[in-house]
Amino acid sequence: MHNITILGSGFAALTAVKQIRKQTPSAKITLISPEAEMIYYPSLIWVPTGGRSGDELRINLTRFFSRMGVTHVRANVTGISNQGRTVHTNVGDYHNDGLIIGSGGRFMKKLPGIEHAIALCEGIPAAQAIRDRIQQMRNTGGGTIAFGFASNPNEPAAMRGGPMFELLFGLDTWMRSEGIRNLFNFVFFAPAQRPGQRLGDKAVDRILTLMKEKDIRTHLGHKMVRFEANKVVTEGGEFNADLILFMPGMTGPAWADNTEHVTLSAGGFLPANEYCQVQGLEKTYVAGDAGSYPGPDWLPKQAHMADLQAVTAANNLTAELAQRNVREKFKAELVCIMDMHNKATLVWRDEKRSFMLPCRLLHWAKIAFEWWYLRDYRR
Ligand SMILES: Cc1cc2nc3c(=O)[nH]c(=O)nc-3n(C[C@H](O)[C@H](O)[C@H](O)COP(=O)(O)OP(=O)(O)OC[C@H]3O[C@@H](n4cnc5c(N)ncnc54)[C@H](O)[C@@H]3O)c2cc1C
Repeated sequence: MHNITILGSGFAALTAVKQIRKQTPSAKITLISPEAEMIYYPSLIWVPTGGRSGDELRINLTRFFSRMGVTHVRANVTGISNQGRTVHTNVGDYHNDGLIIGSGGRFMKKLPGIEHAIALCEGIPAAQAIRDRIQQMRNTGGGTIAFGFASNPNEPAAMRGGPMFELLFGLDTWMRSEGIRNLFNFVFFAPAQRPGQRLGDKAVDRILTLMKEKDIRTHLGHKMVRFEANKVVTEGGEFNADLILFMPGMTGPAWADNTEHVTLSAGGFLPANEYCQVQGLEKTYVAGDAGSYPGPDWLPKQAHMADLQAVTAANNLTAELAQRNVREKFKAELVCIMDMHNKATLVWRDEKRSFMLPCRLLHWAKIAFEWWYLRDYRR
């Protein structure tokens, strides 16, 4: 019976659990994460407008783990040694025959004054803080909200812009429906001249046109310098903002530095090949935001991509442990339903094609998808 360890309890890790169970019903699975819970990030965009409470997006995994025969270890990983066979945590060491890393990425906090911005990517408390601050501004006559995102300068693909567009257009639609949009100025800023380029040229054109139509000012193409309590400062000028919403560039897990035999990617991620194997370790795979992978320059750091990589990692690891000579490559695919509160646009891209489909029904499809995706973990 193989002893497989999985790190994290997010999209990649849980998909890996399901796939390993499918491939090897008898494997012993140990999953290490700080809590037996999953945070469903894609719906955080609805917390500031009251569409979700926040805690609805925190999924208790106790029943899922028991159904899947998973032993959960409540701990933080601190490093890996012994070619991947030993995982170090704050509560002790764990040994394995095969390892899948799905412990996600981190957001860079190097920009001076970053404490003056709220980063939605930090999870439920950040989304609730945005909701409360907007309510407070509404009660005191409104103000200026700045929305922006940046990438990791050493690994430009390590960014997450989509949710900031969703937040921007979602808040615009919601405020119009509440009759309070006239109380607020919106400014969108990014170091890139054409933010969101990974979504494709057509998508960026559409986003920039929508910003004009919706009276959203832009401040684009200027490197960020710092935030102040009520100010965004860039190399191309500065502007005042009463609330700054910013998604920083991403980097790899904090513990990754403490991994023997691995040279991290330029952006600080675990380096993987197209089979999701971690370079430098044995029988060790990575899926999702924790890794740096070969692929097109638009390869997204997305839940959908994390799921595709987790299936590949689980298939390859179980084949390797069973000494079967099968190696699967992960498929590069960007699928994103960009929500605007009452309608949405599907952006889809793979190696051959890309398209965009705006449609009112897609807003409801995003809600239905949340239910469909989580049903396995909630029951
Ligand atoms: C606001 C927002 C909206 C988004 N919208 C979408 C969307 O619409 N569509 C889409 O496809 N993607 C979306 N994403 C991106 C998506 O959520 C991520 O790409 C996805 O969560 C990555 O999955 P993961 O499993 O790699 O990491 P995560 O989901 O971040 O999971 C990491 C896991 O590792 C655990 N962990 C962390 N540190 C340690 C440690 N030291 N030891 C052990 N465990 C640890 C964490 O607790 C967590 O359980 C969105 C992200 C945000 C922030």
